[in-house]
Amino acid sequence: MLPADLIALEDRYGAHNYDPLDVVVERASGAWLYDTEGHRYLDFLAAYSAVNQGHCHPAIFQAMCRQAEKVTLTSRAFRNDQLPLLYRDLNELTGYEMALPMNSGAEAVETALKAARKWGEVVKGIPAGQAEIVVAANNFHGRTIAIVGFSSEQQYRNGFGPFPAGFREVPFGDVESLRRAITPNTCAFLVEPIQGEAGIIVPPAGYLREAATICREHNVLLMVDEIQSGLGRTGKLFAYMHDGVTPDVVIIGKALSGGFYPVSAVLSSRGILGVFGPGDHGSTFGGNPLACAIARAALRVIVDEDLSTRSAQLGEYALSYLKKIRSPHIVEVRGKGLWIGIELNTQARPFCEALKQRGVLCKETHASVIRLAPPLIIDKADLDWGLGHIRAVLEQERTVAEPRAKLPEAAVSSHS
Ligand SMILES: *Cc1c(COP(=O)(O)O)cnc(C)c1O
Repeated sequence: MLPADLIALEDRYGAHNYDPLDVVVERASGAWLYDTEGHRYLDFLAAYSAVNQGHCHPAIFQAMCRQAEKVTLTSRAFRNDQLPLLYRDLNELTGYEMALPMNSGAEAVETALKAARKWGEVVKGIPAGQAEIVVAANNFHGRTIAIVGFSSEQQYRNGFGPFPAGFREVPFGDVESLRRAITPNTCAFLVEPIQGEAGIIVPPAGYLREAATICREHNVLLMVDEIQSGLGRTGKLFAYMHDGVTPDVVIIGKALSGGFYPVSAVLSSRGILGVFGPGDHGSTFGGNPLACAIARAALRVIVDEDLSTRSAQLGEYALSYLKKIRSPHIVEVRGKGLWIGIELNTQARPFCEALKQRGVLCKETHASVIRLAPPLIIDKADLDWGLGHIRAVLEQERTVAEPRAKLPEAAVSSHS
């Protein structure tokens, strides 16, 4: 089918809750995506960091196929032989005593919110129904009603009220506001160590460390959302490690799946996750053997290929390259590891469209920020190729000269 026909089908029968670039991907490998006409594109989004390991990583693929032949879903009504092994792997890798598996990131965040509230009542002694959770302005934690209820993004909330009570917002990066927002009823502070969707916002140095101290002083749980920042993206296994803190709760998702299948989890201590008893919380698919086998393989790739170090090294290189670009459009280039935001003084979308024409795919965030987050397995040479196009587009070289890269083996399109 022609890409235009596929796009028409999608627009006709699907809800329009996204505004994708009009590239119709048919397959992918490593850091490259291929459209239905054989054009190839370097992926600078990595599915919002869900494919840190690269597209269709062979080891994760193999683990998925092997498990899919045996058993895929038992529900938690019965036990399966993969979930204990994922628990053990997560414990050995992260040091956290316990985990609770879910599917999407938003579900894991909801799970953490429920854990924090229940811990607040049962352990801290907050009166029933009074627990408060402090969140940061410009947060992104997903799209459920509770989560968008404490978003500062009007569009995420508009039309979806009423929202649950019990959330207080403080400016991101401001420890004094956090201190003031805490009351005897505060059970937790939920924060992204680096705000991704907000535009790769890196807080002042030491922010998380001071926040951790304040939380400890007030018996408030520090809960970090590492769904996008975690699993190697910022140059360490978790972004909180840059601050040398140990959060009470860590929420992971995205790259926990290597892009194959939704898997998320909440990591914490026995004292916190122990508040859940049988029947308190659940998910039909959470902890299923297919998800667990995939997650185990996805974690193994991150460790075996040392993707955190790769991210740190390539990220530092990319950041310094991008900072040298002279462009009237650039306000700031910032980031950590292979997670970089280029803030413009104008709309970012036309630059993303121009990059698409050159075979580089990235997605604007917050209208004026180009977000760069390639798979962490990206080759240095490919990264250089992509950065060259980003520079060219930002320096406004003419884009007509260079056609999109074609696959060597691609048949000449019969319908141009
Ligand atoms: C993507 C993301 C989520 C939501 O994950 P979904 O799988 O889309 O529900 C939550 N928090 C952060 C920081 C994210 O980047």
